[in-house]
Amino acid sequence: MYKEMPTKCCWCRNDTTDSEVFTVPVKFKKDTDHPQVKLNRYITDLKVGGKKVWAIVTGLNSEAKQAGNDLIFMFCSKDCAYEFKESLEEDMKFYSDLF
Ligand SMILES: [Zn+2]
Repeated sequence: MYKEMPTKCCWCRNDTTDSEVFTVPVKFKKDTDHPQVKLNRYITDLKVGGKKVWAIVTGLNSEAKQAGNDLIFMFCSKDCAYEFKESLEEDMKFYSDLF
């Protein structure tokens, strides 16, 4: 587990500290009590397409949450976000309603 919010692309691990990031918001099928979601603002132990990825858990009062999203994934590029989405779509037992 990271102690602080990771500043890396969650797909290719590129450092995103000073660069533009691309985000993919996701919501769970049931937005209650997924065992892997801890309310420490981000989680690091999700698996998508065989890769370990991390995601930000949206805060209860955040705009993302109010738009119906539970998690936000961050990427260094559109290509990474696109590859991630492709893998995620194959792994739909875990997620639904990808934006
Ligand atoms: Zn990347």
